[in-house]
Amino acid sequence: MRELIMVRYGEIYLKGLNRPYFQNLLLSRVKNAVKPFGGQTVLHDSRIYVRGMTDVEACIQALTRVFGVHSVCPAIEMGKDDFEAICQQALHLMEGLEGTFKVYARRADKRYPMDSPMINAQLGGYILSRRPDLRVDIRTPDHALNVEIRDYAYLYVRVYPGPGGMPVGSNGRAALLLSGGIDSPVAGYMIAKRGVSLCAVHFHSFPYTGERSKQKVLDLARILSGYCGGMRVYVVPFTELQMRIHEQCPEDYTTLIMRRYMMRIAQRIAQKERAQALITGESIGQVASQTMSALACTDQVVAGPVFRPLIGFDKSEIIAYAERIGTYETSCLPYEDCCTVFTPRHPVTQPKPDKTEQAEQKMGDVEALMEAAVENAEVIDL
Ligand code: ATP
Ligand code: MG
Repeated sequence: MRELIMVRYGEIYLKGLNRPYFQNLLLSRVKNAVKPFGGQTVLHDSRIYVRGMTDVEACIQALTRVFGVHSVCPAIEMGKDDFEAICQQALHLMEGLEGTFKVYARRADKRYPMDSPMINAQLGGYILSRRPDLRVDIRTPDHALNVEIRDYAYLYVRVYPGPGGMPVGSNGRAALLLSGGIDSPVAGYMIAKRGVSLCAVHFHSFPYTGERSKQKVLDLARILSGYCGGMRVYVVPFTELQMRIHEQCPEDYTTLIMRRYMMRIAQRIAQKERAQALITGESIGQVASQTMSALACTDQVVAGPVFRPLIGFDKSEIIAYAERIGTYETSCLPYEDCCTVFTPRHPVTQPKPDKTEQAEQKMGDVEALMEAAVENAEVIDL
């Protein structure tokens, strides 16, 4: 008899002939997540078994953050021939639980002498005879006592939902424009959940934005990397370019032009990182730079796709998501952001493409500034 963790996966079932590829990638992500806790990881029978870990609860926590995981169950693995012993173990698992329960038996080994209804009845009867405080409810039980008969017998009650999605790395790579706000970490999470590995680009305007606001962004990146198994962050010095925009462009266009330069620089970093797309936390109409016209004007300077997974989300929906993934509290820390420092009083909501371009041309040669921003970016591997 031993404790183990059973990891079940979801959508990669659908992948037909490519299934082994997705399974093995998920296996390597799971291995990575359980590494701090020791233990062996084996793919068998369309699930992943983790055995011999030092800290079961911490290991479960880590596994519920791996994209591609459907659910995580701490289970007992034991010989299947002694049914009395199985009943005793099941009774042990139900210790401390109250209310109603139902036994769910699954007999994968068809040679096993008892069929599923028989296991349900006998095991249910055994528990009831020793725990008169419990009741059976077959429709909406408080607890599901699962018994699977495979090479061994597996018993479990607790089931923790995983995040779903696809294993990171199965769908290419993208660069996330990561601010210290609420939106961009959620946007990054959503795309990473679909199997995309991330690098992050943060624009830092020292001394207008200080060390603490940079630390806040790195903390957000660290929370994200708990889900996607590591992340490289570029902290781009943006002050000079921002000052130039501030001094030389019409005030109402400064935010928009700043966003266009962010996209241009992010694109260059994406190229270095072999990232095929950019990700932002924008949503239609949230602020002046996110009207349809402004988004279109921003997109004009980018060649590849820009993913904006929050495009149709209300702020309240984004906040709920941020709370769920654990970034909200950090995002709410009150440190200044480079956008807020230079915000114009009346930003343009219906920018004209030709006026935008003229304004940029008047800035003169900023190529050297852009190059310096990319070259002097601080690279931090989390
Ligand atoms: P908030 O929650 O305050 O809206 P935000 O991160 O969405 O935070 P916005 O001003 O709405 O801030 O910016 C829109 C998008 O532009 C962000 O989601 C992010 O992708 C990108 N962005 C803004 N500022 C930065 C920055 N300093 N560095 C990198 N990306 C940024
Ligand atoms: Mg926003």
